[in-house]
Amino acid sequence: MTTPRLKTLDCQMREILMMRLRADRQVYIDALTSLQERSGRELVKADKLADRARLAYEVAKKKYDEHILNHGCVEHWKYTQ
Ligand SMILES: [Zn+2]
Repeated sequence: MTTPRLKTLDCQMREILMMRLRADRQVYIDALTSLQERSGRELVKADKLADRARLAYEVAKKKYDEHILNHGCVEHWKYTQ
């Protein structure tokens, strides 16, 4: 008789995706922070960087969500901090 597992499965891919998600989120946060300190031409530059950081973060988040959906390696999935 086998008992169904309810715990989160060990999944290396999820760990990798989570690390990327965290890293991309931090880059995005830093970019937004730097926006507050810029003005004029510097602001335009910082704005572009923030846009790019946001896109990277969204892609990382989507990949993470998709992996969990397809792989089912998180039973009660949530973002861990
Ligand atoms: Zn997985």
